[in-house]
Amino acid sequence: MGKVQGTDISTLVEEMANAGFGHLEESILQCSDCALREGATNPVIMKGSRTPRVLFIGEAPGKTEDMTGIPFSGRAGKKLDEMIGYMSLSDDDYAVINAVKCRPPNNRKPLKGEIEICRPFLMAQIKMLDPQVIILLGNTAEEAFCRSKKLEWGIPKVSGGISIVKIYHPAAMIYQRSRIEEQKALIDKNRHLWE
Ligand code: SF4
Repeated sequence: MGKVQGTDISTLVEEMANAGFGHLEESILQCSDCALREGATNPVIMKGSRTPRVLFIGEAPGKTEDMTGIPFSGRAGKKLDEMIGYMSLSDDDYAVINAVKCRPPNNRKPLKGEIEICRPFLMAQIKMLDPQVIILLGNTAEEAFCRSKKLEWGIPKVSGGISIVKIYHPAAMIYQRSRIEEQKALIDKNRHLWE
């Protein structure tokens, strides 16, 4: 059991965040609280800085991420790297995590219930990484973070002192090439948040 049943989520998040990165990583690696763990090879935790200014939140691991244990290490990861280059962020500036840590079968979207069960890990990661800016990569990341759809594409909101902005998931750049220029426009509109 990765998380304590019946514990209030804010208490659980606080406890996990206070316990440190090593403890959180171990909790995720040991977790089997939802059915996604059965089909996953490796839970995927994070990559990047532990003191990021910008935190990217994606949806869920895909096939390559499941094999490597590293978020955004496949084709979508190449698009994310291009985006990060366009944003002029250095390696120390950012971190990357996903809404759920284990790969859904056949790359389907994680179910609401799976997102909810995994959410304490997500919120603990955000608390520990303490970014200035959270970039939600697509609607699933938004649903996981906000628990509903509240944001317009590229229109930032401030919550708890953190600027939150939703842009397209990098996979959209692979399948809809017209999205590349649209994504650049969303990034350009929000540069002031991290520059
Ligand atoms: S997806 Fe999250 S809640 Fe489900 S088993 Fe993996 S770490 Fe646990």
